[in-house]
Amino acid sequence: MMVGLIKAKCPRCRRGDIFASPTYSFSGQKMHDRCSHCNLYYEREPGYWYVAMFVSYALNVAEMVTFAVGLHTLTGSNSPWLYVCVLLGVIFILSPFNYRYSRVILLYWLTPGLHYEPGRALDKPVQTQQDQNDN
Ligand SMILES: [Zn+2]
Repeated sequence: MMVGLIKAKCPRCRRGDIFASPTYSFSGQKMHDRCSHCNLYYEREPGYWYVAMFVSYALNVAEMVTFAVGLHTLTGSNSPWLYVCVLLGVIFILSPFNYRYSRVILLYWLTPGLHYEPGRALDKPVQTQQDQNDN
């Protein structure tokens, strides 16, 4: 499961990619609308990705706390400017990562009813009634 999450694979079959571009690309990150393997529609409901903003916020806070504590441990500095500059840089550098993984975490852990289905990882995915409704 962690491998699928890290590689940003489809949460249902773990075969198809969620994103059409790598984490750090100058053209920005493009998502696939559907899983290329099991045809899962990634945006589960209208406004679904809005929820990912809250996940992204939580990631940002966790990263800032981690880096602030690490910075204090390494430098022992109390200069606010050092912290502001480093943390802004960290947030800027990590923003593509946060964008990507806030959505992956939402799909993997925060979406009821969406989970790994081994039958869909086969080369010929099992079709269910839900697929008929989705299509
Ligand atoms: Zn899939």
